[in-house]
Amino acid sequence: MLSINNLIKSTPPSVKAKVGDVVVKAKKAVSKEGSSLYVFKTATKKVPGKKQEKYETMTLLKGAPTTKAAFAKSEAWVSCTCPFFKFHCERALVKKGSSTIIHTKDYKPPKVAKRPPVNPRNIPYVCKHLLASFLAIPKTRAKEGTIPLKTEIQKALVNIRKYIP
Ligand SMILES: [Zn+2]
Repeated sequence: MLSINNLIKSTPPSVKAKVGDVVVKAKKAVSKEGSSLYVFKTATKKVPGKKQEKYETMTLLKGAPTTKAAFAKSEAWVSCTCPFFKFHCERALVKKGSSTIIHTKDYKPPKVAKRPPVNPRNIPYVCKHLLASFLAIPKTRAKEGTIPLKTEIQKALVNIRKYIP
């Protein structure tokens, strides 16, 4: 499992440059059995004439770090419902134990590549929504308890918690 620091370091500057485009609309944070789950609704800033896309951006951490330094060192499991995460990030992060196949279940590599493959070296980086949520997490206090989640997310988290003693 990779730390928040590692995830940020692997993320290309072109993605980091877009963090300012993201608004974090709603934050929920709960802790259970020594892990904390942060579920944020994120969106791209409203542009006139364009539909505002909204996503669900999730981070599971060991412990509930409240300082930036502790947060940076935390090992993380992450997921986002945006297309960028699906095509660039999910499979590469799964190889490092930092995500679960949720959005790319039926993914097959295209036979004829019309476009260059995305992330062919499987670099475990994250999308701009996750980067924006990483800025908000140290300021968000996790409360003891649970929140309703989609079944596939629940299953993923039950599996991933095994990594967390
Ligand atoms: Zn995203």
